[in-house]
Amino acid sequence: MIPRSINIFGEKYKVIMTDNPTYDGDDCYGVFHALEKTIELKKGLDFENLISTFFHECFHAVSYETGIQRIVANEVDELYADNCSKMVAKYLKKIFEDNQKKKEKKKKVKKNNKKLDKAE
Ligand SMILES: [Zn+2]
Repeated sequence: MIPRSINIFGEKYKVIMTDNPTYDGDDCYGVFHALEKTIELKKGLDFENLISTFFHECFHAVSYETGIQRIVANEVDELYADNCSKMVAKYLKKIFEDNQKKKEKKKKVKKNNKKLDKAE
């Protein structure tokens, strides 16, 4: 579900899962390291938090790689990353849930068809 690496404006960022990512000494769900080109994500997050955190850090990396980070206040960068990532996570969660429902429906139809075949 989460790639091992992602290309952000020509830079390859490694995505690593760790037990306790920290930012400025505080525990967090994720952090991106601009110089090391890595995105660190906390192990064990639920689907929506994992996707949201992954994109949150990606948006920070986009800010860094495009130079946006240098011209906006940290609070603006944080708000932008937070809101955009939540929007993307909700959208992907809906797609994921819809796909799950479709799969379950297909399974039910297959089961019913098997039952009908046996009954004949
Ligand atoms: Zn952030």
